Amino acid sequence: MPVIAVIGAQWGDEGKGKIVDLLAEKAHMVVRFSGGSNAGHTVVNPCGEFKMHLIPAGIFHREVTCIIGNGVVIDPAVFLEEIEALKSQDVSVDRLFVSDRAHLIMPYHLQLDALEEESRGSGAIGTTKRGIGPAYMDKVGRLGIRTGDLLERDAFLERLRLVLEQKNRILTRVYQAQPLVLEEIYEKYCHYGELLAPFIRETDLMVEEALERKQKVLLEGAQGTLLDVDFGTYPYVTSTTTMTGGACSGLGLSPLKLDGIAGVFKAYITRVGGGPMPTELLDETGELIREHAHERGATTGRPRRCGWFDAVVGRFSARVNGFSSFILTRLDILSILPSIKICTAYRHDGKTLTSPPSSVAMLARCEPLYEELPGWQTDISDIRRFEDLPGEARTYVERLEELLNCPVSIISVGERREQTIMVKELL
Ligand code: GDP
Repeated sequence: MPVIAVIGAQWGDEGKGKIVDLLAEKAHMVVRFSGGSNAGHTVVNPCGEFKMHLIPAGIFHREVTCIIGNGVVIDPAVFLEEIEALKSQDVSVDRLFVSDRAHLIMPYHLQLDALEEESRGSGAIGTTKRGIGPAYMDKVGRLGIRTGDLLERDAFLERLRLVLEQKNRILTRVYQAQPLVLEEIYEKYCHYGELLAPFIRETDLMVEEALERKQKVLLEGAQGTLLDVDFGTYPYVTSTTTMTGGACSGLGLSPLKLDGIAGVFKAYITRVGGGPMPTELLDETGELIREHAHERGATTGRPRRCGWFDAVVGRFSARVNGFSSFILTRLDILSILPSIKICTAYRHDGKTLTSPPSSVAMLARCEPLYEELPGWQTDISDIRRFEDLPGEARTYVERLEELLNCPVSIISVGERREQTIMVKELL
């Protein structure tokens, strides 16, 4: 199977980084297609422990070409910092490339992100204030600046002049902030352009060439389906398409070229920032999971809200993405619990719902209906075969397969590569 997409199936942080790092062993190319430095993977492997924001988790494999596709927005400072951090730990970035069509985060995006979020007051979305939302707004509003623009200095200056006039009007008149200085941004970004130039390529052609050579390509999702700008819990979402469809438009790849779509689910559920989360545990069980699992964001360090596995949003995620299989991570974390609940439906205004409502106001009023399964309360982190899992753990996974209407392909029982149960080979 040459092209496999790995998609976050919940509210992000499902452990995609570990899975991509693991699967990349067999891939020729790993490609990021959406999001920006608001996404964060933690990868623990023989090279060390890494917090990745932009660079694909395939970078640790010397033979693998890593691509940041056109659907990603890039903060050059974060990108260059990440490269330095990798190099300092002897990880080569020789095979890393960035699309000439990827949009850039500019200084006014960072500033506007913070000012806009502040002005929302109690209605704050919980953005990471990394300028991602404003950069995507400019992309859609046709005011964006792309990596390739940095290589055409005269045209870049003209474009920046035009865009900055508009941004300075907003900064000064709406937010009473200081205007930004054209020359300063121009010089800084021309310098970035020199540093980025060796990485900038027509990456859509590179993907096409890899496919012509029948190479194995892994598409690395960022964030999760419930944060998707269309199908997530709008407006508590990210500004981009996090789903399978985004993998195609974020790379320039035909949907017909996809051979498999694997949705990554945590064995429970977490969420960072605002917005409804029907199965959130506000009690000691939630606290126990958070502490035991160190549930804090890789990018922001914010504590994550924890809850029971929500099969209503899970089934929805499987449907809108068309998962051909799912990957279950962090099953080991549930080993501490005597019994485990799964939300199978919601109760709303006297009706039973099996698919989440599009309105967050309605979702916030949904009461989860649970099924309770016995826990296994034994360490499973050294288990490598499905049949060696305790019966209760197998029952839990099999019940999820039924509820998601999708077979499991990989079960992760720890953060290290080898702590994995490969039920079905994906690549
Ligand atoms: P991502 O953005 O989807 O890659 O997720 P994060 O990196 O934010 O969070 C995943 C965290 O869980 C990382 O620290 C991983 O090392 C860790 N992790 C991944 N899979 C497992 C697992 O099966 N068990 C445990 N205990 N940790 C895991």
